[in-house]
Amino acid sequence: MEKRIIVAIDGHSSSGKSSMAKQLAQKHAYLYIDSGAMYRAVALYCLRKGWIKSPDLNVEALIGGLKDINISFCTEGQGLPRICLNGEDVEDEIRGMEVAGVVSLVSAVPELRQYLVGIQRSLARNKGVVMDGRDIGTAVFPEAELKIFLTAAAAVRAQRRYLELKEKGIKASYEDILHNIEMRDQMDLNRQASPLRKADDAIELDNGQMSPEEQNAWLEDRFNEVVYGKNRN
Ligand code: C5P
Repeated sequence: MEKRIIVAIDGHSSSGKSSMAKQLAQKHAYLYIDSGAMYRAVALYCLRKGWIKSPDLNVEALIGGLKDINISFCTEGQGLPRICLNGEDVEDEIRGMEVAGVVSLVSAVPELRQYLVGIQRSLARNKGVVMDGRDIGTAVFPEAELKIFLTAAAAVRAQRRYLELKEKGIKASYEDILHNIEMRDQMDLNRQASPLRKADDAIELDNGQMSPEEQNAWLEDRFNEVVYGKNRN
């Protein structure tokens, strides 16, 4: 039987992690888990509860309220997972700028990270998983067989994100997106709990000059090297 592995894809905001991860997972019938969506869903919960008066988060309320927050994935249509917050599909709502503006504040809380990492590990107990995020290769699955660290210039990432949101009908200016990406990079890199870092054994890719097809082919080669011990092409 084919070896089933854990693929950890980390990197800066909007570096194309989800697109690459989804494509690989679909191709190999692996489970795809977007860990960022989990942090975004909790950020949405905090906003709804009025716990965020930016730049301040009521950390005590969040820690005390964790037991009331249920995060799960529901699958729809073509089988891509959609994030559910206490049973409600919030996949579309978490992608807007309001959540993007506060998620890094929320994700810095160690108690929340511990809670979500527990869920992430339990989702991957059968292996055959591609998970993307910021700390997957360093903290969630240090034992992952394949670790990728993605990056690209902030301006390139902002332009991609702008087009992606436009396609989804979500309004946001290029300048606001660029500012949000730079702010999240800084907060994610500088927080105390599991900051964004490249794992020592991760393979780094700057995909700024690559088409989606080239990125997918590159990842497929890395996957084949680990699973079959060679590049199959
Ligand atoms: O991946 P995405 O951009 O949707 O992630 C949103 C935010 O969630 C990140 O900016 C980061 O603050 C947080 N995050 C994290 N750890 C992860 C995934 C996301 O702290 N594993």
